[in-house]
Amino acid sequence: MKVFGDLGSSLGSRRTEDKIEIVNSGSGIHTLRLKGAVVKQSRKRLLLALATIFVPTIVTTSATAYGQVASNAAIDSIYPQVESLYIDIHRNPELSRREQRTASKMADGLRQLGYEVTTGIGGNGLVGVLRNGSGPTVALRTELDALPVEEQTGLAYASQVRVKDDSGADVPVMHACGHDLHMAAWMGTATLMARNKSTWTGTLMMIGQPAEETVSGASAMLRDGLFTRFPKPDYVLAIHDDSDLPAGTVGFVPGYSHANVDAVAITIYGRGGHGAMPQTTIDPIVIAARTVLALETIVSREIDPHDPAIITVGSIHGGTKSNIIPDEVKLQLTVRSYREEVRKHLLASIIRIARAESEAAGAPQPPKVEFYDPAYANYNDPALTERMTAALRRRLGEANVVEIPSKMVSEDFSEYRRAGVPSVMFFVGAVDPAKYKEAKASGTPLPSLHSSKFAPDLKPTMETAMATETTALMELMGKR
Ligand SMILES: [Zn+2]
Ligand SMILES: [Zn+2]
Repeated sequence: MKVFGDLGSSLGSRRTEDKIEIVNSGSGIHTLRLKGAVVKQSRKRLLLALATIFVPTIVTTSATAYGQVASNAAIDSIYPQVESLYIDIHRNPELSRREQRTASKMADGLRQLGYEVTTGIGGNGLVGVLRNGSGPTVALRTELDALPVEEQTGLAYASQVRVKDDSGADVPVMHACGHDLHMAAWMGTATLMARNKSTWTGTLMMIGQPAEETVSGASAMLRDGLFTRFPKPDYVLAIHDDSDLPAGTVGFVPGYSHANVDAVAITIYGRGGHGAMPQTTIDPIVIAARTVLALETIVSREIDPHDPAIITVGSIHGGTKSNIIPDEVKLQLTVRSYREEVRKHLLASIIRIARAESEAAGAPQPPKVEFYDPAYANYNDPALTERMTAALRRRLGEANVVEIPSKMVSEDFSEYRRAGVPSVMFFVGAVDPAKYKEAKASGTPLPSLHSSKFAPDLKPTMETAMATETTALMELMGKR
């Protein structure tokens, strides 16, 4: 937590996990992951266009060098075991920082395949390394954690799990973000790569990352020596399932795909008193009202319209009774951006405006401005994205690999690039193509990620996830 005026150091450093946890238990950044109106709008247009051109996919077998590893036949041969792993993980979800069972399941699976496995990295993180001669070191990351959501999918294998959270409250747990699908596909890919070592060369590094949903697991693993105790990869790859794309398609975003997210708390101080004697008071409710309106001018008047940015005041609290002017008012904000310069400008302007509005009202002391839980924008290396996209188009068909708009949500996959490694995340469509078409035609929104009703169209989504991962790995490591 950083206080009023000390912007420089708060921007430069990430807070400790403990501090992040405390703040999260009250008004967690996770619950503030809202889509920005600007992005949503353009995404909607694009998806409407997609709905009209989309042709249901049969993944085609490529005649290229990576056929043996990434082919339909290879994927089909392991699909039953991948699906049963998925169902097992789906039935047994674990909250962030509590992924012990999940992590040991992943570690056991990799060990059986011949990977050198290390566990307990940055909490429940694990790494499996498969050395296979000279060549690039490529990392493939999956997340391990689930969410406090009560599953309402009606599936036979729906989660029934409930646990006590850190505050002692009884909470349901569900893989509502699809990390179970990521893990199962990741293990399937690890299997195909291990079984076909003669077709590629290099070092494969499988990263099982905990605590993505609290945006803390990647940095915890890096602090615990992920890129020093193990080979530092030349590339890091990941997929995420996508509730806005039909199964069989893959979305890509060159450059920024996820936003910087900062949570800000502002306490405005006044001088309380009787509501009928305002002349004896300095009313913090009036200062807060003016502050909120002035904050709204930062994005509209100070930021280049080409730079996406959001300031949302999501919470305002002050006062107890109609005839009492309170002593203080508290505001809570979420601030989102892509470019670091824009992020710094937004945060600096918030301090400037909050301070100036209090000063204008003659407040007895300046407001306290605190910054919590920074998450950094994910940037997909454009050259790597282009190379991967070309390979994926050959494998999945031109029409099934589509550029999609970036999102104003957060994703700590950004940390790997911040640690100096070019990285790219692809988005694997998870919606039954028929339901997707129907939803677009009727305008009814589909269950999004984190919804209690989110369930991927399992087989085609899983197959496309594995096809994406194996194709990407073989593009970088395959023998030619
Ligand atoms: Zn999530
Ligand atoms: Zn996720």
